[in-house]
Amino acid sequence: MKVLKFGGTSVGSAQRMKEVAKLITDGEQKIVVLSAMSGTTNTLVEISDYLYKKNPEGANEIINRLEAKYKQHVNELYSTDEYKQKTQEFIKAQFDYIRSYTKDIFTLFEEKVILAQGELISTNMVTNYLQEQGVNAILLPALEFMRTDKNSEPDPVYIKEKLAAQLEIHPDAEIYITQGFICRNAYGEIDNLQRGGSDYTASLIGAAVNASEIQIWTDIDGMHDNDPRIVDKTSPVRHLHFEEAAELAYFGAKILHPTCVQPAKYANIPVRLLNTMEPTASGTLISNDTEKGKIKAVAAKDNITAIKIKSSRMLLAHGFLRKVFEIFESYQTSIDMICTSEVGVSVSIDNTKHLNEILDDLKKYGTVTVDQDMCIICVVGDLEWENVGFEAKALDAMRDIPVRMISFGGSNYNISFLIREEDKKKALQSLSDHLFNNK
Ligand code: ASP
Ligand code: MG
Repeated sequence: MKVLKFGGTSVGSAQRMKEVAKLITDGEQKIVVLSAMSGTTNTLVEISDYLYKKNPEGANEIINRLEAKYKQHVNELYSTDEYKQKTQEFIKAQFDYIRSYTKDIFTLFEEKVILAQGELISTNMVTNYLQEQGVNAILLPALEFMRTDKNSEPDPVYIKEKLAAQLEIHPDAEIYITQGFICRNAYGEIDNLQRGGSDYTASLIGAAVNASEIQIWTDIDGMHDNDPRIVDKTSPVRHLHFEEAAELAYFGAKILHPTCVQPAKYANIPVRLLNTMEPTASGTLISNDTEKGKIKAVAAKDNITAIKIKSSRMLLAHGFLRKVFEIFESYQTSIDMICTSEVGVSVSIDNTKHLNEILDDLKKYGTVTVDQDMCIICVVGDLEWENVGFEAKALDAMRDIPVRMISFGGSNYNISFLIREEDKKKALQSLSDHLFNNK
């Protein structure tokens, strides 16, 4: 069985919902995970915000506006009065429920309940639409099987067992629709898997039912060549290893968050990124398979600052790096690239909020130099150390470009260069020529 997830924009209007319905009715049994209609979760956050601030009037204004929007969606979505009425009644009940929270004290617990309404409504709408169209579609209530434990981590044993029980109630359904994002916590209270959590839901469900494939449908290009950060002149990236995808995630490639796909990765279930606007394109497949000897993509990230700490005290000393890293940690600044020699270490950061404090502290341990407006260029592909030639090829491409740092060997899938931002274009072009076009 396949698990398909559609994001907020893919179900963002009545028209979009109809398109999704068309896409998923091909006679194959499947589980479909839906987000809230785009903008809804943000609006529910805003409503909660007013309630935290004890401003029920402000909250009510937004609640009414949101409800009016949904009324319109319902009118556009259904063709029969029966389904219009049925769905309208459901939505009214949910909004009345949201309104009831404007009269009481408001805590994190109430906020979670309010945030859950977006997915509860969108899944109800789509299930009703499919049923109106005569499709054998069933709503699987995520709150009955999606659960986190006392550490707020998903509980895979519980999920598997309870989901199987839910599926058994309607073994012959063609399409099972369920809510992304929402869950219950270890105490049975309504909770969620954090913003953007619907991908996580899909991955957890895929692992629980041992799906043949998990499909993540968005309305934006996943990894195609019109993403300016990814340069691959020959073809869109069709296939990535989970770790290659994780490397690219740092570069803001429109790709899944690595933690979201972890359950799929462990269960060895391939994840396919697909585009709702181009449904027949084959998309990008992410799996545990490596394409031997292939460079997949080159990505870049600007606004990087490089810091070098040089000290003769580092020579033959131990604990020097720990002291340096602790300084960054104490200012909640994460280090991205690192390079060391016997007497110095260079690191790159992309958050310069505490740069001055960090530099002050580092000066206790050595001579410090800073380079700003730098850019990380990352080459992703099968870069296992025993393969020969690939590093050389990438280095050769950088021949005419001043390189501040090189990082290789951190993973089997990456070699990174730190260069000046002003050299980025030239570097990307040259890498693309050398790695993909064999110039
Ligand atoms: N609706 C939730 C959000 O906007 C979850 C999701 O879309 O993935 O964050
Ligand atoms: Mg989303």
